[in-house]
Formats: sequence, structure tokens, C-alpha cells
Amino acid sequence: MNVPIVNHPDYVAQIGDDHRFPINKFGELIKILKNKNIANDANIFEPSEVSISTLSDVHDEAYINKINHLTLNKEEVRRLGFPLVKSVRRRSFVATGGTVLASKLAVKKKLACNTAGGSHHAFSDQGNGYCVFNDVAVAAKYLKKKYSYKKILILDLDVHQGDGTAKIFENDDSIFTVSVHSKKNYPSKKQISNIDIELDDGIADDEYINVISHVLKKIENQNFSFVFYVAGVDVHYQDRLGKLKISENGIRQREKLVINNFFKKKIPLCGVLGGGYNQSFEKLVNLHSILHETCNDILNN
Ligand SMILES: [Zn+2]
Repeated sequence: MNVPIVNHPDYVAQIGDDHRFPINKFGELIKILKNKNIANDANIFEPSEVSISTLSDVHDEAYINKINHLTLNKEEVRRLGFPLVKSVRRRSFVATGGTVLASKLAVKKKLACNTAGGSHHAFSDQGNGYCVFNDVAVAAKYLKKKYSYKKILILDLDVHQGDGTAKIFENDDSIFTVSVHSKKNYPSKKQISNIDIELDDGIADDEYINVISHVLKKIENQNFSFVFYVAGVDVHYQDRLGKLKISENGIRQREKLVINNFFKKKIPLCGVLGGGYNQSFEKLVNLHSILHETCNDILNN
């Protein structure tokens, strides 16, 4: 069976086609996955909106209310980077529900992916940098409760630090946060993850893959019950916001290395998109699809 893929048409919010954030990538990604025969009616799952009670385990009630009723103030909207319109509200609830659903499917099938998610700059009480709700944090708390997991790993390889995730779990030993990110990139104020690896500008494939191998080795005896993998492709050399020199082949190597590592150990893994702002829209969508493609190959071989 193909890898379970969670997708919803409402992942594409109406923020204007000329917005800096390439929102249409979510709609194109599922098309490409269908064209590549990775996604079809049998393995696409449509999520519903995350419930307020599930969200409340991570986010403050006052903040949830502001999103739900579209009442962020000007400064809060500026920090978010999106206009807070109805479709953004809808997208935030449904994409978070999507990561929760993908994580449950991963428990059953060993691997599953969302076609959105990885909103790692969202804090408990505040959205930042295109992130409204911290979907991975919400899903991690949900799984921990539902399956009484002792230790969950959040492995964040987006080029930006998973600052919201690090902050949310700074005093929670049951959720282990790892972030490998560009040192001189957003956010300027970094938080403290369990492991932070800061990369210098301009590093290329060999060095990058070595760093990831080293990190995986460092955490190999931790006995994780579950892994969330934030597979940001803004490490690519043509990315508008990344500062690294990673090739498409480098990203392919990375996904194989990470996903195989946990699959061999029989630890379920839920993959989420993370960031990507490539100069080429077509390239961007293709880069994102490597996550789903690699999961599918590993599951079927
Ligand atoms: Zn990013």
C-alpha cells in the first residue's frame, strides 16, 4: 500500500497570488503526487478541523479565540505575515487537524505524511513567520495523551530554527526537540531546543549530510516512541530565504537517511512539509514531493 497522505483543498488560503508566501504550493503538491502515482483515492485522507480542546493543550485560550474570531491586532498580523482572513483561519484549523490525523495514521502504518504542516514559529500565545498554530506541537501532545508515549522526537530540519516548538517544550522532558538550522537566519532571537545545530552560510551537500548523520547518531539510544519530521526544503541553494547551498540530490539523500533511520528501528514517523520559498515555483513543489516519494519508496521496499 502507498504511504498515507493527508490533504485538504482548504490548505490553500486566499491571501492573493502575488503574496510573498507561495500558498498555491499546497494545491500543486497533491497534483504532482497524483501524477507520480504516489497519491490516489485509496491513500489520500481528508482531515477535519482540529478541536479547540486538542488545540488548548498547546495554545492559550485567548490566542485561539483571536484566531477563531479573526481579531488579531495590526502588530500581531504583521508578525504572522499573513492577512488574517476567513480562509487563513480555516486553513490553520484544518492543517493542524491534518498533522494530528497524519500522526495517527503513522502509528498504524509506520509512515504517513501531511501535505502541509511544520508551523514551527508559532508559540503558545502568538503566531509568527507564516505560522498560526504549532501543528506538530499540538499533534505531539495529542499522541502522548492518547497512546501514553514516554518520549517523542521532533526533528526539525527546516533552514529556520523551530523556535516556537523549542519554547513550547522547554520544560517537558517527554518531547525531545532537535533543530538543525542556519545560524544567521530568522528568527534573530533563537530559543533553546534539546539539541540545536547552527549551520554556517553556504554549506553544501557533503557537510550537511555529515551533520545530519552525526545528529542521528547522537540520539540513537533515546528510545523514542514516535518521530515528527519537519522536512523544510528552504535549505535548497535556490531558496529565497535560505542561505545554504544544498542541491536537490542533497535533499533526497537527507530524506532517505532520516526516514530509513527510524523505519529500520520500527519507530513510526510523521512527515510534515516545513518551509520552502524557492525562486522557481515548479522546483519548489517538486522539492516538497521528495518527502512523500521517499516515504512511499521506503514503505514499499
Ligand atoms: Zn523555514
